Amino acid sequence: MPKLESLAFDNSFARLPEAYYSRVCPTPVPDPYLVCHSPEALALLDLDASEMMRPELIEALAGNQLLPGMDAVAALYAGHQFGHFVPQLGDGRAILLGEVKNAAGEGWEVQLKGAGRTPYSRGGDGRAVLRSSIREFLCSEAMHALGIPTTRALAIVGSDRPVYREDEETAALVTRLAPSFVRFGSFEVFYYRNQIEPIKQLADYVIARHYPELSALADPYPEFLRRVAHATAELMAQWQAVGFSHGVMNTDNMSILGLTLDYGPFGFLDAFDPGYVCNHSDTSGRYAFDQQPDVAAWNLTKLAQTLVPLMSVEAASQAISEYPQVFGRAYLERMAAKFGLPSGSEAASLVMDALTLLAQNHVDYTIFLRRLCDFDSGENAANTLRDLFLDRAAFDAWAARYATALRQQGSRDTERAAAMRRVNPKYILRNHLAEIAIRRAADDRDYSEVNRLHALLARPFDEQPEFESYAAEPPDWARKIEVSCSS
Ligand code: AMP
Ligand code: MG
Repeated sequence: MPKLESLAFDNSFARLPEAYYSRVCPTPVPDPYLVCHSPEALALLDLDASEMMRPELIEALAGNQLLPGMDAVAALYAGHQFGHFVPQLGDGRAILLGEVKNAAGEGWEVQLKGAGRTPYSRGGDGRAVLRSSIREFLCSEAMHALGIPTTRALAIVGSDRPVYREDEETAALVTRLAPSFVRFGSFEVFYYRNQIEPIKQLADYVIARHYPELSALADPYPEFLRRVAHATAELMAQWQAVGFSHGVMNTDNMSILGLTLDYGPFGFLDAFDPGYVCNHSDTSGRYAFDQQPDVAAWNLTKLAQTLVPLMSVEAASQAISEYPQVFGRAYLERMAAKFGLPSGSEAASLVMDALTLLAQNHVDYTIFLRRLCDFDSGENAANTLRDLFLDRAAFDAWAARYATALRQQGSRDTERAAAMRRVNPKYILRNHLAEIAIRRAADDRDYSEVNRLHALLARPFDEQPEFESYAAEPPDWARKIEVSCSS
């Protein structure tokens, strides 16, 4: 395994013309220390595990020193925020250090979030606090373990440098990894400046690197947009199926690769509540859980509009027209698998009716699905699952239909249970679990809970009996947790 000194940087984004970014160095922080790291993410860079203990790496991940080959830039973008166009945003506190080519031939961009002010910081301080960094680190790696496309997190480095939010907190930096951090907003910024050439050049760049098979097409742009729409639809299906709410689905937080990007006030559903709004600041509920697929569709129309200079209006609208079907099919397939049913109209009605019951009875989404894995489909079988419901008669009626469907399909309980456990996680990053880890870290400098959660959530589908309590419903105090954009 290579050492730090032999990291092979190939900074393709920084080789683009300067229209796309500003060269800017991270601002150092005093006395950085490692809070936690992801050995799996480290391996993406082909780095030996022991490299994480080297002060040189901690200094680099604190933004205190650039490693040879790094070429630091902050990217320019724009975006529709809560429906309103903001003509200039950009990495206000994230700095791209470079792109590492690993032995498998993958390119991983290495970015520090919280690395200090950039030309796009506007009024912000360019920093991130430990609290939000822990949430982003844990959730990125947990999403990956759930099989959901996401940017990755390599490490959190902390510093006692004060950062002022509602209260005084301390600074931290998350090292994020992704094949690309290009967003819908990276295109939008040029459209609204009436600059066509940079849109084309950025599209060519993304196509060449991430959709290389399209390069050969005489007119690759409609197909490119179609692929983005498909990737976005697949991502939305995954979010809805696992019960993930992003919280700030502005177009500047929409990845061109269909990755989950920019973890802020996100939340996983506890009790199933379609109208769940995880962002305390989202008073209108624009980004409520059940709005996400439609918001993504709206965001795609903004991207399509931006790409219209490269194609006809008809081609652009055609390219995103399949989104509803792709989303619908992908969502139903995932939900049917979670219920152990073949995808089809019967699965659709059983799933939708179950979701209605869950919402009416305030049943925990993840716990219900995990316990459904052990459903006994025998005639007149008593299922303890009914204890989760206030309206037991309604559940019994649903369970009878479900059991009949399973028996008709010749579904065998033990086989179905094993398959369902592979798609219904036992452990998710519930807000209260993150909160406990954050309090220990921020109050006591005790990072053991962050590390424990990270390890637990790396295997979300496995039974981990010593951590049974981590799979439970949130305690009463957790109702008071509020998360917002101020991180
Ligand atoms: P978000 O919606 O959290 O992804 O952020 C929206 C925009 O605000 C992005 O352009 C960020 O870079 C910027 N931003 C957020 N927090 C800060 C901060 N503390 N300092 C500078 N820019 C920030
Ligand atoms: Mg953002």
